[in-house]
Amino acid sequence: MKYLFGPVHSRRFGRSLGIDLLPAKVCTMNCIYCECGGTEMCTDEVKEYVPTAEVIQELKGYLSGAPDLDAITFAGSGEPTLHSGIGEIISFIKKRYPHYRVVVLTNGSLMRRDDVRARILHADVIVPSLDAVSKEVFEKINRPFPCSDTEQIIEGLVRLREEFAKEILLEVFILPGINDGADELNRIREAALRIRPDAVQLNTLDRPGAVAGLHPADYHLLERVRNALSPLKVDIIARSEAAATKAGGLGTDEVLALIRRRPSTIEDIIAGLALSAQEAESALDALSRQGLVAKKKGTRGDYYYAL
Ligand code: SF4
Repeated sequence: MKYLFGPVHSRRFGRSLGIDLLPAKVCTMNCIYCECGGTEMCTDEVKEYVPTAEVIQELKGYLSGAPDLDAITFAGSGEPTLHSGIGEIISFIKKRYPHYRVVVLTNGSLMRRDDVRARILHADVIVPSLDAVSKEVFEKINRPFPCSDTEQIIEGLVRLREEFAKEILLEVFILPGINDGADELNRIREAALRIRPDAVQLNTLDRPGAVAGLHPADYHLLERVRNALSPLKVDIIARSEAAATKAGGLGTDEVLALIRRRPSTIEDIIAGLALSAQEAESALDALSRQGLVAKKKGTRGDYYYAL
């Protein structure tokens, strides 16, 4: 597949097929934590980076087999709203396959533009990022295209909220020592209160970023950030070992959330949550002891399900 990838188990969206609309790697930012590596073309030019018709053709071929999916997610190696055909692709999916949730991950940088917002309004879930508000921290963590400005991003997200009645999940990527200061968190809180997302989701480093020497936030820091963002609804979605470690066992909440969405084999859990076999087994043991999971035989072996 040229433009599609996965499906992968996503803790947030279930079994999700990815669509990548950009050559590696074109983005409006060059975030220090980006798992796709450094941005090769940092631009804010919106255009048809890959042929829209080819993407739709590939989707048609894949979806004609009625695959077992929960969601189709625009993500991959850059900022998907840079592609001028994203609206046409979303409309194609929603018209022909309305039972799949369409998710758009975006860094929010183009939400200031009416035409770009209009293209994604038929999605079911929009996940914009906001890692910083002050110019200094924004430039340090996101290294944006010149002239980008967080006030414009926030204003664009406020407008998106006015126009989009479905789910908006505001993702904040926390890096210790960079955007976890009290002043920055207060600015993020004020901005999020203006944006009014359905929830804020806290993430942190899971794999090496574009810059060496970064560290993930641990669970205690993410809890502190969650408190600092009160009264917003805040979920910790980070899956790194440091972030998941807490009383009760490694990753047990994440394993429970996954199997609540769909019964899974241990292989599904390992792949979906990037756990080692030992971590997955100990999380399942802890959940079994608490009477929260059980298993039954299925086509691919034992399936764990939530009680
Ligand atoms: S916005 Fe997303 S794709 Fe672009 S550099 Fe940042 S993390 Fe990578």
